[in-house]
Amino acid sequence: MTTRQPAVPAPTETPAPTETPAPTEALIEAPAPAATEVLGQPIPTAPARGQLLMVAPRRGKPPRHLADLTLAERMAAAAELGEKPFRGRQLSVHYFERLADLDPASAHQLTDLPAGSRQPLLDALLPRLIQPIRELVCDGGATVKTVWRLFDGALVESVLMKYPDRATVCVSSQAGCGMNCPFCATGQSGLTRNLSTAEIVEQVRSAARLMAHGVSTPVTGPGTGGGLGVPLGVPLGESTDSDDRRPGSSGGGRVSNVVFMGMGEALANYKAAVGAIRRLTDPAPEGLGLSARGITMSTVGLVPAIDKLAAEGIPVTLALSLHAPDDELRDELVPVNTRWKVAEALDAARRYFDATGRRVSIEYALIRDINDQEWRADLLGKLLTARGRGWVHVNPIPLNPTPGSKWTASDPRVQNTFVERLRARGVPTTVRDTRGQEIDGACGQLAAAT
Ligand code: SAH
Repeated sequence: MTTRQPAVPAPTETPAPTETPAPTEALIEAPAPAATEVLGQPIPTAPARGQLLMVAPRRGKPPRHLADLTLAERMAAAAELGEKPFRGRQLSVHYFERLADLDPASAHQLTDLPAGSRQPLLDALLPRLIQPIRELVCDGGATVKTVWRLFDGALVESVLMKYPDRATVCVSSQAGCGMNCPFCATGQSGLTRNLSTAEIVEQVRSAARLMAHGVSTPVTGPGTGGGLGVPLGVPLGESTDSDDRRPGSSGGGRVSNVVFMGMGEALANYKAAVGAIRRLTDPAPEGLGLSARGITMSTVGLVPAIDKLAAEGIPVTLALSLHAPDDELRDELVPVNTRWKVAEALDAARRYFDATGRRVSIEYALIRDINDQEWRADLLGKLLTARGRGWVHVNPIPLNPTPGSKWTASDPRVQNTFVERLRARGVPTTVRDTRGQEIDGACGQLAAAT
C-alpha cells in the first residue's frame, strides 16, 4: 500500500454459493488452491509467474455484522431476536454516528437499550471482526498503519494519513491479492480470501474513531514483536513512543477520504466492495455519511467490473493502475493485461469518466530503467489525449521496492523528465506523496512482514 497524495476514491466480491455470479466471477483463471492452515492461519499458495486468481478461495465467512446490512435489514434482524425493530436503528446510531466503543464487553455503555437486550444485540449484530495486532506510526505522527487479524487469522492492513486539510484511510479489500503484479508485496503472497463488507467498513470506522475521539482499540495478541511504533497493549492515545503526535489524538477530526489501495483487488471482490462504498456513503445512521467524491477505487483494470461500477450511480473516483503504456511491458508488470489490454482498460476508464463525471487517475509506479523511458511517457500522453482532454490525470509514484526486489525507483531526474513529457502534452500530472515508506508503506509489506 502506498500512500496517496490527492486523497480520494474505488470495490470487491465475497461469493456465496447462492449468489448470482457477478461478471468478475466468471473470469476464473485458475481453480482456488487447496487451503493450507498453520496454527489456524490460512496460508495461500504463492502464485506462479503471471498466474491470475480472479475468484477468491471459498473459506469460512466472517460472522454477520451490522455493517453488512441495510438499516431495514438491521431492524429485521433485531425483530428476529425478539427485540423491537428500532433497536437496530439505535445500534446504528452508536456504530456510525457516535462512533462508540462497541467492544463485545461494552454492553453497559448502551444505556438507551434495555439492560437485558444489550448483550444479545451486541452479540448478534456487532461481533468483533478485526483485531489490531501491530501499529506503526511515522511522518511525525501523521501516518498510522495498522495490521489487523481477522476472525480466521488472516492478516490485512490499513493506513490512516492525516493532512492539514483532510484525513485519508487506505483500506484492504482482500486478504492477499490474486493479481500477481511482480513489484507489489501483496501480489507475491497470493490470495487468501475476500473481505466482507463489514470487514472493510470496520477499517474505516476504526480510523474515524481515532480522528473523532483520539482513541483506537488497544493492540493485543500474539506475533506482535519488536520494531513497532507502539508497544504492545498500549492504546494509541497513551503511547510511550517518542513520536506520538497521532492523527486525531486531540480528537474532533473526521475521515474525509477512503482509498481502496491497500491489500487486494477490490473489483475482484465486487459485491463486498460496493457494499462497503454504500455503507460509507449512506447518510448516518445507516452509514458513515462520507461523500462519494472522497472515495477512490483503485484497480488493475478489470474492464467488466469498471463498467459495472460506472452504472452503480455512486460517483467514486476511479484509479487505474496502468504502470506501462505498451502491452508488451504491461503483460509483465500487471498480468491481468493478458486479459484486458492497455487500450481496453483506457477505453473503460474513459467510459467511467463519461458516466460519472469523475476525473480518472492513472497510477504509474516509476521503476528504474523498466518503465520510465521518455518514449513511454510520450506514448502514455498520446494514448490519453487520443481519448480526449480533461478526463484524466496521471499520478506517477516512485517505486517503493519490496524486500528482495531487483527493481528500484527511478532516478529523480528521470522522474522529472517523465512528468514534464506528460505535461508538455497537456496531461495533468502530479507525483504522488510517498508517505509511510519507513513503516513498510508499500502495498502489503507490513502484513507480509508480520
Ligand atoms: N489492486 C488495486 C490496489 C492495489 S494497491 C490496484 O492494483 O490498483 C494501490 C496502488 O499501489 C496500485 O496502483 C499498485 O500498483 C501500487 N503499488 C503496489 N505496490 C507498489 C510498490 N511497491 N511501489 C509503488 N506502488 C505500488
